[in-house]
Formats: sequence, C-alpha cells, structure tokens
Amino acid sequence: MQPIQDIFPLLAQPQKVVITTHQKPDADAMGSSLALYHFLNQFGHQVTVISPTNWAMFLNWMPGCRTVLDFESPNEKANIAIAEANWIFCLDFNVLSRTKRMEEKLMAATAKKILIDHHREPQTEVFTYGISDTGKSSTAEMVYDFIVASGHEDMITPEIAECIYAGVMTDTGSFRFPSTTASVHKMVAKLKDMGLEHSHVHEELFDNFLENRFRFIGNVLLNRMEIFYEYNTALIAIPQTDLVKYDMRTGDTEGIVNYPLSIKGIKLAAVIIDRGEERKSSFRSKGGFDVNTFARKYFNGGGHFNAAGGFNKEPLEEVVQKFKQAMKENVAELSSYQF
Ligand code: 5GP
Ligand code: MN
Repeated sequence: MQPIQDIFPLLAQPQKVVITTHQKPDADAMGSSLALYHFLNQFGHQVTVISPTNWAMFLNWMPGCRTVLDFESPNEKANIAIAEANWIFCLDFNVLSRTKRMEEKLMAATAKKILIDHHREPQTEVFTYGISDTGKSSTAEMVYDFIVASGHEDMITPEIAECIYAGVMTDTGSFRFPSTTASVHKMVAKLKDMGLEHSHVHEELFDNFLENRFRFIGNVLLNRMEIFYEYNTALIAIPQTDLVKYDMRTGDTEGIVNYPLSIKGIKLAAVIIDRGEERKSSFRSKGGFDVNTFARKYFNGGGHFNAAGGFNKEPLEEVVQKFKQAMKENVAELSSYQF
C-alpha cells in the first residue's frame, strides 16, 4: 500500500470514482463517504457512492445521501460503476469482507483501491494507496486531513463540513471518547469558522426517532439485560421476536450497547442481536479491556480497542453461552478493574 499522498498529484485528472464503505453504514461511514464525494466532484471526477446495504433513516438528511446507491437494491448501476471505475475509495473499514456481498466485485475490479480507515489490522495487500491510522477519532477526520494535506482546504463547503462533523461527533461519542484529541477540537473550530451549524447535525441524528424505538429500549433494558458484577460486565441479548414486535428498522438498535456502560463499575458491555440471518454482536469497553482482540477471538469480528463487533451463524442461545464462556476466560482482566 503506497502512501495516500501519492494520489494528490493525480486529483486534477478527472477519473471514474467509486466510494464505498462498510455494510449498514453509520454516520461516520456515510459522512466520510459523502464528504469525499462532494470534494472530488469539484475536480470534475465522475463519482458514485455505493453502500453495500441499506442504512438508517436518520442518515437521509446528509447532503448527497439521495445519490447513494444501495448495492442490494435490484439494479445494475452499482455493478457497472464498480466495473468501470479507475479508483475505488474504501472508507471506514479494514477488511473487504465488511462490504458483505460487494466483496467479490471489489476483488474482481481492475480499479486502484484506496483505503482511508482507522480500524485495527487492515488488509493492506488489497489496496494500491491508503492510510490506516488507529489513532484517528473517525474516518471523517481522516477525510478532512486528506483534503487539507492535498492543499485544498479552501474547497471545504458547508455540505462537506456537515458530513465531516456528523462522522466525528458520532464516532467520538459526542467528543467524550479518548480518541477526541486536541486536533479534533481544532478541526471542529475550523468547521465552525466555515459556517457549520452543529446543532442542526445533532438534531437530525438524535431527535428523529419514532416512539416505538423508545418502547423497544424500555423493553430491552427491563427484560433483556443481565449484569455480572463479579466480571464488571453487562450483556443484552435481543431475540428476533423483539425486533419484529417493535418494528425495528436498520439503525434503530445503534447505541443500545452504550447504556450499560453508564452503570457504575461496568467495564465491558455487549449486545447480541438475532437478526435472523445471523447474530450480530457489539462490544464496548472502558479502560484497558481490548474488545478488538475479544471480538476477533470469539466472534469472527474486530474493530477498535474500546469498540468492536462481530457475527455468528449459531443460534442466539449458543452465542450467549459463548459470550459467558469468553467472559469467564477473561475473568482476570475483567475483575481487576479499579474504581
Ligand atoms: P458496532 O458495534 O457499532 O457495529 O461496531 C463497532 C466498531 O467495530 C465499528 O468501528 C465497526 O466498524 C467495527 N466492527 C463491527 N463489526 C465488525 C466486524 O465484524 N469485523 C470488523 N473487523 N470490525 C467490525
Ligand atoms: Mn469510523
């Protein structure tokens, strides 16, 4: 993988560009992709953003979101764009399998692949150019760095600023995680100087849910959460029947894993959701417990040190047992937490 700076001199020559991200994109995945989309469009490139799957409704307000193709929707546009592309930017994921059914199309594509990502252990051999920096708060921040380093800071429009802010604000847990460096705050200050209306972004992302999601969360916290104080751990296991009963849609379960982390003493929080075709896990930790390694070892996943996820094919009850077993195997680390 060559350094990302090597493509700066090539930006001036119009290319056919695809920008893609991980399945079920979150605000960082969508925000970084659309920020780059608006930036590259200004050079006259022909740019197509493709999401491997559908996404949460609360992302639809983002400038440019209407142009994003869903790879799983039944039309050929995405396949044609991938096959014809000269460049494929891969944002906010480290391994091609995170693009689900798009993986084989990306592998087969002749385009140069360019990685911009902050997850651990990237699949560097499949990318021609790229930057992977686990010290970065968000991929949105990395797109900002990319624009500034290429010498085109003056091309950051209010649309780009909103997309970047949405990504960095959500990936830092509203600027609370340790990844929130001084550079993050300096970047936000610059975005504010460029006219960013940050309250608007917060309202679009957090004040647009339907009542049923809160009924669902009430049910989950009351009936589906187990606390294991001797392990400083909380587990929420959600059966598919709950998702159906409360009519949960893509994105509605995002953030639920954070609730138990607000309980005094909890160091590891896990949510396992039965999505029907698979069991999706989310892990969050505070302090020194490495959930990236934990997710890799037991749940076919990965991510960051304090936030990771995974997938299992086994039934929910088996994945829950697996989690409890894994928790016991890590008792030394989990129980040694100091308050
Ligand atoms: P979430 O729990 O929000 O789905 O994911 C937490 C973090 O871990 C995100 O940065 C996400 O991209 C990453 N992640 C989630 N699932 C997986 C997975 O199956 N594999 C890898 N490598 N990363 C994942
Ligand atoms: Mn991210």
